Amino acid sequence: MTLTLTVDGDRWRDHLISVAEATPGLVPVAKGNGYGFGLGRLARRAQWLAERGAALGHTAPGEAWGDVLAVGTYDELAEVADRFDGSLLVLTPWRPFGAALEVDPKLADRVIHTVSRPEDLAALLERQSDARYVLEVVTSMLRHGMDARGLRSLGDLAHRGRLEGVALHLPLAQGSHLGQVRRLITDAISAGLPTTTLWVSHLTSIELAALRASYSDFTIRPRIGTQLWLGERAALTVTAQVLDVHPVERGDLFGYRGRTAPKNGHVLVVSGGTAHGIGLEAPSGDLSLKSRAATLARGGMDAVGFVRSPFAIDGKQRLFAEPPHMQASMLFLPAGSRVPAVGDEVEVRVRYTATTFDRVVVS
Ligand SMILES: *Cc1c(COP(=O)(O)O)cnc(C)c1O
Repeated sequence: MTLTLTVDGDRWRDHLISVAEATPGLVPVAKGNGYGFGLGRLARRAQWLAERGAALGHTAPGEAWGDVLAVGTYDELAEVADRFDGSLLVLTPWRPFGAALEVDPKLADRVIHTVSRPEDLAALLERQSDARYVLEVVTSMLRHGMDARGLRSLGDLAHRGRLEGVALHLPLAQGSHLGQVRRLITDAISAGLPTTTLWVSHLTSIELAALRASYSDFTIRPRIGTQLWLGERAALTVTAQVLDVHPVERGDLFGYRGRTAPKNGHVLVVSGGTAHGIGLEAPSGDLSLKSRAATLARGGMDAVGFVRSPFAIDGKQRLFAEPPHMQASMLFLPAGSRVPAVGDEVEVRVRYTATTFDRVVVS
C-alpha cells in the first residue's frame, strides 16, 4: 500500500520564500529523486519561486530567486524543462560521450554546461560554438574540476562560446570555507578568465555575506538543494499504514526465513520496503561514537538480532522482525505495547534523498 510524504504547504512555501529572501542569486537544485518530492514538482515550485521573486523586482542574476534551475544529470533535463522556463545548469561535468551529446536541440540555448577539464572545453565548443558553460575548479573535495594550471592553460578558449562563471563545489561545512574560496578566486582571476560570476555550494549565509563584501564586483550564485527543499523538517511528515497485525507467542515461527519470536508480542506488517528505499539501517542522524556505543549497550532486543527500524509507534522506533521486503516491512512489537489496528498510520523516519514515496501530498 502506501508510503506517503505529507507536506504542510503553507509552512513549506513560507520556508522556500525565506530562504530565497536570505539568498540573493539563489539557484535551486533539483536532482536525483527530487529530494523526495520528485523532480517535476520541484521544477514547478522553482518556477513559482522565480515568478514571486520577479514580481518583487528580484530579476538581476545576482538578485534572482531562481532564474536558473540546477539538475544533476543530462538525463534529468527532460523532466524539468517543460515545468521551469529559465536556464538549466547541469551539475555533472560535460564529457565527450553519453547523455551530454544528446541534449534536445530545443534546449540547447537554455542549458548551461559544467566543464571540468580543458580538453572538454575544446570538444564542447567544437560541437556547439555558442555553448553556455561554467568552468569547474577543483576544491578540497577532489571530485571534479581544474586546478590553477588547467585554468591558465585555457588561454583564448575561455573567450569563446559563452562563459557564464566559475563553479566551486565545496565539502559540507567543516569550519570556514572562506580561505579556500579566496584562494580559488585568486586562481581564476590570475588565469584571466573573462567572468565575474561565481557559482558556489555549501556556504553559510555568513560566509556568503563575507564573500559578497570582499568581492563586491562579483555575482554570487549559491546552489542550494537540501537546505531549500528539506530545511523545514517540521513541515514534512512521512507515514506508512498498518496492513496486518498477528499476535505471536515466544517460539512461534514467522517471516521468509522462519525465525522464531523471541518473546510474546505482535508481528506487524506495515507499508514501505526496499522498493521505497527503506533499508535495514535506520537513519539515526547521530553517528557519533558515543551514540553508537549507546545503541550497542542498550542490547535487549537488538541482542537477539533484531534491528531498529525507521517505523515509529507511539513515538518509539520499533524493531524489524526481519529485513524489509520489497514493498512492506515486518515489525516486532513486544507484549505490553499498545497494538495499532489495521489501517492505522505509523510515522517513518527516512532519508528524503534516498526514499521513493508512493504519494506526495502538499496541502
Ligand atoms: C547536489 C549539489 C548541490 C546541492 O547540494 P545540497 O547539499 O543538496 O544543497 C550543489 N552543487 C552541486 C555541484 C551538487 O552536486
